[in-house]
Amino acid sequence: MKKKNFIAGLLILLLVSFGLIFGSCEGPVGPAGPAGANGSNGSNGTVGPQGPIGPQGPQGDLSGWVKGPGGQWYNYPNPPATPFVNAKFAEINLLSFNDFHGSVDKSASNSNPGADRFAAVANKIMTDPAYDNPVLVAAGDNYQGSPLSNVFLGEPVSEMIHYLGVKYSAVGNHEFDWGADKIKKYAEDGGITFLAANIVDESGNYPDFCQPFGFMEIGGVRIGLIGLTTPETKAIVKAEYVAGLEFKAPGPWLTEMVTKLRTDYDCGLVIALTHMPGGANSNLSVSADPDPNSETGKLAAGNHGFDAIIGGHQHTLISGVVNNVPIVVGAYNGRGLARLNIKYVRDDPTGTVITPNAWGQSDVNGGPNYNQTTNPGNATGNGTILATDVVNKYMKNIIGYYNTAIGPAFDQTVGTFGVAITSRDEQAAWCNQVVYDYIARNKPGETFILFQNGGGWRDTSPYDKVATDPVTIRYLYTVMPFDNEIRYFKMKGSDILYLLGLPVGNDGNPSAYLVSAAIVTGAFKDGDTWKLGSAGTPGAAIDAGTWYNVSCNDFMITGGDNFPFPGATVQGHTSEVQGTVDVMGGVALRNAMIEQLQWRVDHP
Ligand SMILES: [Zn+2]
Repeated sequence: MKKKNFIAGLLILLLVSFGLIFGSCEGPVGPAGPAGANGSNGSNGTVGPQGPIGPQGPQGDLSGWVKGPGGQWYNYPNPPATPFVNAKFAEINLLSFNDFHGSVDKSASNSNPGADRFAAVANKIMTDPAYDNPVLVAAGDNYQGSPLSNVFLGEPVSEMIHYLGVKYSAVGNHEFDWGADKIKKYAEDGGITFLAANIVDESGNYPDFCQPFGFMEIGGVRIGLIGLTTPETKAIVKAEYVAGLEFKAPGPWLTEMVTKLRTDYDCGLVIALTHMPGGANSNLSVSADPDPNSETGKLAAGNHGFDAIIGGHQHTLISGVVNNVPIVVGAYNGRGLARLNIKYVRDDPTGTVITPNAWGQSDVNGGPNYNQTTNPGNATGNGTILATDVVNKYMKNIIGYYNTAIGPAFDQTVGTFGVAITSRDEQAAWCNQVVYDYIARNKPGETFILFQNGGGWRDTSPYDKVATDPVTIRYLYTVMPFDNEIRYFKMKGSDILYLLGLPVGNDGNPSAYLVSAAIVTGAFKDGDTWKLGSAGTPGAAIDAGTWYNVSCNDFMITGGDNFPFPGATVQGHTSEVQGTVDVMGGVALRNAMIEQLQWRVDHP
């Protein structure tokens, strides 16, 4: 709690002082309007009319109305009074980044470019005369995932989004991580509009933090962007943050919406701006074709009428075609940038050519190594971009400012690792053990099993820790960026064994699988048998009819990642409930780790 108060105080201090410190540096950031969108660029074209689309009843003249996934009707707030005439010919470069995950500070991981180099890359391309009519959009998961961004609740990313003149973003599942209400603040701070046509509330209305589609007029062509969020979101976000929201699958309503944008709003192009996965290839140096069975692949196969699809969520580098629909995904953490090169011809659907292209990171030297001399015009998308030493000074100052503000608190050492960590598995096991020891200290004499979701402990590569290395607050924020809390309860052996036997993966039917494997402490698999204890000190086999003490985090206990813990009904399985859940004082896993590591120092 003390830490929380400190950070809250720091945030207030920052908000107060920020304007003063950076007041004189604001030159490059244009106003929210079209001309200032790109500062020094100016070639960004004009941005079309936009504004919130509120749910409205289907009364009166329904021409110009669009039916949403809940069966309700929406009207564009500024329906074009006069027909918009698209240019006869235009070349447009629609650039996108996705899954930036708050990676503003390259020091958090030496594999990420950081906001300063990413902004330099984006600016370089946006100002290069080789790229006609460039415009940059985001495909979601922008804010959450690095210590610096998390402590400031995404503010440093909003600075970058504002600086780069990004107008639209898809809604990523991680946009809900600090509550859905934060999305409105991201929009306000970054000067962007969130698009999601498939998120509706219980009454079938669109929530107030996003609108289903938006428009841009670039190079004389009106582009309609329809936002879509992976339906998996419901399963992978803490339940309370998506309570009352539904994430609809694409359907006939979507085809109707695409058609409306063309016929009633004169869009020359209609593009899906999604936070939906496109495939499993993780080689970030070579972009891959989309997987036809992925969500974006199926979206393309669904004949909804999209000219192209921008994807995200899966952290892969994708540029390819499914069902004649180009699909791009720009990796993650700023390590890639996707591009749709559009050669538009009015009144001739076969004349328009859209070439997908995704620039990835050439990581040969263990760090971001964008090569600005490489021609990124490769149709299959294997170019690389910009050099390591190109840094955007404005963003560097911004990041420096946040780092200075948070530095002393973040670089505080709370203890040592105590063991070597040479792999992600070892890192996960170490994290689990620290939490396990904390709980054990607070539940003296009790035997229990601790579960953590596989994606819960985040990647902090390189894994090069020795036992005496210090553990800093920054490390703990990196490995556990979520504010997940500890839960402690009783679970029947049969339900535990059911959970441990569930398949892991995602074939596009996420409800049939665990999203990630459980990381288990206090039990282990001995041959085919799950036993209590560990391989070194094995206990009794887990018995189907016996009740056991179990701990997991509050994300998992509400069905997160499809874990069937008592209280959540997932995959048709309802685990039995005995007694009430001990919320352990609402202690966040990260704070438990801090306390436990400090305790270890005091009790060597
Ligand atoms: Zn995502």
